[in-house]
Amino acid sequence: MGSLNTSSDNKTLVLGAIDIVELIGQSVALKRRGKDFVGLCPFHQEKSPSFHVSPARQFFHCFGCKASGNAIDFVIKRDRVEFIDALRQLADRAGIDLPKNGASAAKAGERQMLYDAQSAACSFFEANFWDPQKGAAARAYLEGRGFTHEALRKFRVGLADDAWESLLRAPGMRKFPPDRLVQAGLLKARNTGQGFYDTFRNRIMFPILEEAQSRIIAFGGRVMPGSEDPAKYLNSPETPLFSKSRTAYGLNFARQRMIETGTAVIVEGYTDVVMAHQYGATNVVSVLGTAMTEHHVNVLRRFANKIVLLFDADNAGDMAADRAVELFLTQDVEIAIASLPPEMDPDEYFIKFGAEAFDRDVVGAAKDVLSFKWTQLAARMGSDVTSQQKAVGAYLDLLGQARGSGPVDDLRWGAVLARVSRLIEVPIDDLHRRFRKQPAKPAGGFRRPAGNFDRSETSGAAVASGSSLGREETPTPEVQTPAEKIDPAKEVAERQIMGILLREPNRWHALQLQMNADDFADPGRRNLARIYWGYQRDEGEPVFSELLGSLNDDLKVLAIELLEQVEYISDVDATLSGALTFFKEERHRREEQKQLAEIRRISQQGAGPTANADQAALWAQFVKKNASVDPRRIGPVRRTRS
Ligand SMILES: [Zn+2]
Repeated sequence: MGSLNTSSDNKTLVLGAIDIVELIGQSVALKRRGKDFVGLCPFHQEKSPSFHVSPARQFFHCFGCKASGNAIDFVIKRDRVEFIDALRQLADRAGIDLPKNGASAAKAGERQMLYDAQSAACSFFEANFWDPQKGAAARAYLEGRGFTHEALRKFRVGLADDAWESLLRAPGMRKFPPDRLVQAGLLKARNTGQGFYDTFRNRIMFPILEEAQSRIIAFGGRVMPGSEDPAKYLNSPETPLFSKSRTAYGLNFARQRMIETGTAVIVEGYTDVVMAHQYGATNVVSVLGTAMTEHHVNVLRRFANKIVLLFDADNAGDMAADRAVELFLTQDVEIAIASLPPEMDPDEYFIKFGAEAFDRDVVGAAKDVLSFKWTQLAARMGSDVTSQQKAVGAYLDLLGQARGSGPVDDLRWGAVLARVSRLIEVPIDDLHRRFRKQPAKPAGGFRRPAGNFDRSETSGAAVASGSSLGREETPTPEVQTPAEKIDPAKEVAERQIMGILLREPNRWHALQLQMNADDFADPGRRNLARIYWGYQRDEGEPVFSELLGSLNDDLKVLAIELLEQVEYISDVDATLSGALTFFKEERHRREEQKQLAEIRRISQQGAGPTANADQAALWAQFVKKNASVDPRRIGPVRRTRS
């Protein structure tokens, strides 16, 4: 293959080889809507999808948080990596070999080394596990619990042996400097400051994979039976690759089924996940020994609109249920709680009843978190009137606390109270009265749904797509700030021209004969036009997703908005020529006014011979120039176009 000299070559090559819908579809459940795909934005919290992906133009745009860009931008934002890392990641994905150079490559190399180290460690643990002698006890234990080799291999289960420097001395790990392995969470530095030791010892190892790329980012270790180690589970520490509160174990395998069923099931341990998948309940994940966080909810919500927590009925489950109530109030997701028959572990359940029964009798019978919590409290308090009153009090206190834990949407709160009213048999008015003392925060923190999003953040008058042009309001001069405000009709014309240029770059060649970038009155559009004109001159017709790469964030947002606004114009020729005509007339009119002003100025200066000569010359020029212009058009421009 040819050599790649510039980073722009690389970028073009990579962007050309990646399908952005497929890429983003790995992290976001996308549904087709018209020409676009839409889903819940992975970059901000939202209730209804305002995240758009355009297959035709290969870019994404969120109307809520304004995140936007091409495939590379997406990876940069999603994985919080630098441009070069994102480029390399996508190049890998597309099977493109990028040449290495400079400091950025070193940086990419550092991160890559962390991945490589995790991967090497995983191979080492696996080799231990399947080693006839070393792994015998671990295998016997898991086989005894009913795990198949197939499932264990699929999840790449391994073994950290019972030694302090086993991984440290493993031949496969020698190429990694020890301090890098510390950074990867695989080794720890000894307190003496001298030497290192293995983080994981005498544990069954479960590699934790990225949701999208399926690269190993961390490990969870379950203590070997008979070990004296009091910690049943040990996870990798937080590393540049791994954040526990955002990661769900098994999500890389569970993603697809979550999208299909709309349900994410959360179980407690690694082995529960493996067993569930072994039996075909493949929408099951676990949250790494921690309570579910809002980050988890945000990740899972991208795939499923319902989260089912599988709990033990012990105290840990109690706290988790309280937390679930909070998450349910503050996040737009259904949360339900399921439980197994008494004294039964998930793996026992699967072995005995299978996945179908699990889906039907456990997940299917899950109670929404509000009812679950009420039933739990009421059952504990007893059935006499005083106890029931206490239960109601405790329940409402819990709701009040949960509501205070984050912004709760007014509509959601109203719906919750209605449900609570039915549950605890307290009239809804009483509930409203009780909670009115601490009014909810205003709903201002919530994004409006897509479709009627507020465009007023961009400069000038709000302008919708081409079809609504005729309804453009006539400006009222009193409210105009004289220097800045652009005539709304001109606003429309400018937006249409720039939008059409972005949509159909081949139209620029003819258009640039009639106007240039500096003709745009709005500074934002003028800047965008200058870059666009430059791109056309230097690099040829811009592919939209690539042009975005050369824009700053503000201009990116503007470019995407302009493009969206012309997306549904059917007669581009007519729209463009209308806008151009208007544009030219308007420019013409300004020139006339300038000249008239000049004439007035000169005539007011009095009548020296020079002044008269100037005046006569100007007038002649003016008349000549306007010979072909309809005299009615001198003066305010009438807005009669449609
Ligand atoms: Zn967003």
